[in-house]
Amino acid sequence: MIRGSCLCGDIRFETAAQPQAASMCHCSQCRKQSGGIWASADVHDEDLAITGPVNWFEATAKAKRGSCPRCGSFLFWKGTGEDTTSFALGAVDGNSGLRVEKHIFTASKGDYYTLADGVPQQD
Ligand SMILES: [Zn+2]
Ligand SMILES: [Zn+2]
Repeated sequence: MIRGSCLCGDIRFETAAQPQAASMCHCSQCRKQSGGIWASADVHDEDLAITGPVNWFEATAKAKRGSCPRCGSFLFWKGTGEDTTSFALGAVDGNSGLRVEKHIFTASKGDYYTLADGVPQQD
């Protein structure tokens, strides 16, 4: 079981599923919203239990981004029409048991850091 929460604790989530596609996103939207690199993993919607007042921001027609209206933690990303939701690995309480498998949107990454961990990169 993976459990997570926002900084203030108003929002909690949990899943008993094995998450897919653990990644670190370097896109400009994740950078703006999180303040840096956003690490996440996906589960099917029916496997993710969320409690609390998630603020869903429609960043584009293709996706919405869920955060806590009180403390601002960026917790969820959901593609329009997709049946999965990504949750923030940084919000997991305790060990996630996961390993990041890829860096994505590296062409948009900040110029203030270098990726040298050997994990596969996708532009
Ligand atoms: Zn919060
Ligand atoms: Zn992103």
